[in-house]
Amino acid sequence: MGQKCTDPFIYLDYNATAPVRPEAVAATTASLAAVGNASSVHTAGRDAASTVDQARERVAALLGCLPNELIFTSGATEANNLAIRSAATHGRSLVVSAVEHPAVSEAAAAVANSVAGKVYTIGVHRDGTLRLDELEEALAASPVLVSVMAANNETGVLNNLDLVVRLAHEAGALVHSDATQLVGRLPIDLSKLRLDLLSLSGHKFGAPQGVGALFARRGTVPAIRPLAYGGGHERGRRPGTLNVPGIAGLGAAAQAARRDLEQEAARIKVLRDRFETEVMTAVPGTRRNGHPDQRLPGVSSLTFDGLPADALLAAMPGLAASEGSACSSGALEPSHVLLAMGLSRDEADCTIRFSLGHATTADDIDRAVRCVTYATHLVRAALHPNTTTTAPAHSGGQEGTRRHDA
Ligand code: PMP
Repeated sequence: MGQKCTDPFIYLDYNATAPVRPEAVAATTASLAAVGNASSVHTAGRDAASTVDQARERVAALLGCLPNELIFTSGATEANNLAIRSAATHGRSLVVSAVEHPAVSEAAAAVANSVAGKVYTIGVHRDGTLRLDELEEALAASPVLVSVMAANNETGVLNNLDLVVRLAHEAGALVHSDATQLVGRLPIDLSKLRLDLLSLSGHKFGAPQGVGALFARRGTVPAIRPLAYGGGHERGRRPGTLNVPGIAGLGAAAQAARRDLEQEAARIKVLRDRFETEVMTAVPGTRRNGHPDQRLPGVSSLTFDGLPADALLAAMPGLAASEGSACSSGALEPSHVLLAMGLSRDEADCTIRFSLGHATTADDIDRAVRCVTYATHLVRAALHPNTTTTAPAHSGGQEGTRRHDA
């Protein structure tokens, strides 16, 4: 019946945030130990500027773009807002998918409102893949921008961006992708994939939190309209003193991720598949969400039949994972992603996202399987005290990330 989770803590919440890679710790620490504003013309300033230049080249190498097509931001939320706001044009509509992160869907709603345009929301199939028929219908309205995420944060489901780009470009629309969950985890080559705009966030692939970037293809995006007024940093597109230590860490994480990408993805997929097979065997009735193959290697979204995710997570305090519901405005809302895929509210409430990454070990997975199995026994025993006799009463609080928009 599994085993109670004890130390060491098992971290399976990489889609919320990943541990900082040692290379990024070293680069950020070195930058913190130095002084210099990257805009200053003296030696200290020029050193900071060259740290930024080097990081820009490393991120560009990871993406297959030009360094000057990147604008450093505080993360993907800002990059998404900057992209959508820059593309918006008076009276023109925007197209987003139903499973976007709120940093895209809410930005699109606000921006469309301010330019007197409309937002078309494209649904997804039961496996989380995009409804291309709905995309084609929305494209008939001549939108100015289509924003479709590269990989979903809750299920890991990947979109066929080549196809989205082709269809959208044929209809004269720009294409943005929130690639927060894909960058640093699977290869991407912007010299071939002709996206116009792409957002990324460093903390999902081993950089410190609070740093990211927007890619804006040279020559195709009309103009980047800054979100704030201020100085001429990032060629006037993102005013404010650059976060040099964070950017140094982002560059180092990009370089390390690029170096290890293929073998890391293959290793993580083996661990994830083993985790799923063993949990689904040990806990009958458990279902996996999302397309079986077309998804990130490290994500597992599992629905535990009749077992609420919050109770399960409380029963495994030594394991960090996320539930498919978010506490917004004091009410527990079911995940919009799972609902868009056709899960019922009850099924969404019984869903947990486990996400693995660069530092996950085989031992973590062995222990996680035992720990999840044990938690399901505890919760079943608590819910049905007369039918189960073996499970001990559970104690302990809850750790780990809970919000589905993390
Ligand atoms: N988009 C997606 C798909 C995400 O998963 C996240 C992070 N949870 C964000 C955007 C926001 O990123 P950041 O934390 O860098 O603002």
